[in-house]
Amino acid sequence: MPLICDHQLPAGERCERPHNHLQPHSVLPNWNDLLQGGLNNEPKLRDKVKRSPTETAGKGGEWGFLQNKVSRASKVAIPLELYLQDNTLLTRPYDGGCLVYLTPAQFRSGVPTGLTLGRNSVVLYQRAHELDDYPPDSSWSIFELLDDQGFVVDKWGKAVSWRGHYYVRIKRGSNGWDYGGGQAKAIGIRQDEYCSRRDQRFIVGQIAYLAWSIPGTRIRLNQPDAPAYLVEYLKRHQMLDLDRMRGAGMLNSNGTAQCPFCRAPLSYEELIDQAPQQIGRQLASSNATALHMMHIEPLKMGQFNHRPYNLGLGHAKCNHAQGEDSIRRSVEFLFGRRLTAALDETDVSREVRDDVWHRAVD
Ligand SMILES: [Zn+2]
Ligand SMILES: [Zn+2]
Repeated sequence: MPLICDHQLPAGERCERPHNHLQPHSVLPNWNDLLQGGLNNEPKLRDKVKRSPTETAGKGGEWGFLQNKVSRASKVAIPLELYLQDNTLLTRPYDGGCLVYLTPAQFRSGVPTGLTLGRNSVVLYQRAHELDDYPPDSSWSIFELLDDQGFVVDKWGKAVSWRGHYYVRIKRGSNGWDYGGGQAKAIGIRQDEYCSRRDQRFIVGQIAYLAWSIPGTRIRLNQPDAPAYLVEYLKRHQMLDLDRMRGAGMLNSNGTAQCPFCRAPLSYEELIDQAPQQIGRQLASSNATALHMMHIEPLKMGQFNHRPYNLGLGHAKCNHAQGEDSIRRSVEFLFGRRLTAALDETDVSREVRDDVWHRAVD
């Protein structure tokens, strides 16, 4: 019995949803297609496997002009400094397009070739004095989001396009944020958080596979194995290279999911239970569990590290310890000196020491 629909779509594509799906044919599976078997029934599981990999992280304060809690396939906002380092960032095939933002002072000192205000770039006002020092040109219009009927809307979720030359978001004491008369609450998402809609399917599929690779998940959800459709979909796109996942530390040699940082096997309880919080220090809004989504290579401006084979499930504690470095670098930093010191107290040979070191770190 075929597992994937394979109905012929226009443009030569085929439907990649499960063979018995109900709603329209699509080359992209629905989230529920990838979460079948019970991952979609438990809110915390769904949150962990689907929401974290597909939505941008929360931002506020001075970074509030970047959008939080929206699809990672949304329009990308690139700071001028980054564009100057790598102008190909502007021409990549983003699902939702991109734009470059520059400060009024940067604009005054000359717009680099390749950029046109209102077409692929905007001037971003973030300080009240900038409006006095470098007032917007009288020919400029404020940044606006438009829906498919051409009406101005306030959120990218409702918009299909944008227009305008400058964007204002200035803190006015206790009066909150002043948008200079504009309605748009953000100009785009941070570049390093971008992930195409297609890659999001692969990542959610891989995280779902990791969740199924925790023995407790299969016991609790009463499934003998990861759903056959999920496995078939990932394999069809070379997204289930188990050696590669073991190499990244997401799976151990038995095929059980493990924390890529400390290499301890993961449990179903850690996946869904509320992380313990100290009395008096609880965060009312926290629905964090003991496991986080972890990037093996961290997000980095100018790169696209929110990508398949780079996301695993690991301990919140280990995720914090990893910080901004790659897992490899963090482990070397945190444990390297302790390991060296411990080995110094033994009289093992250089060869054995090197072997121990590589087993611990590689
Ligand atoms: Zn179909
Ligand atoms: Zn860990």
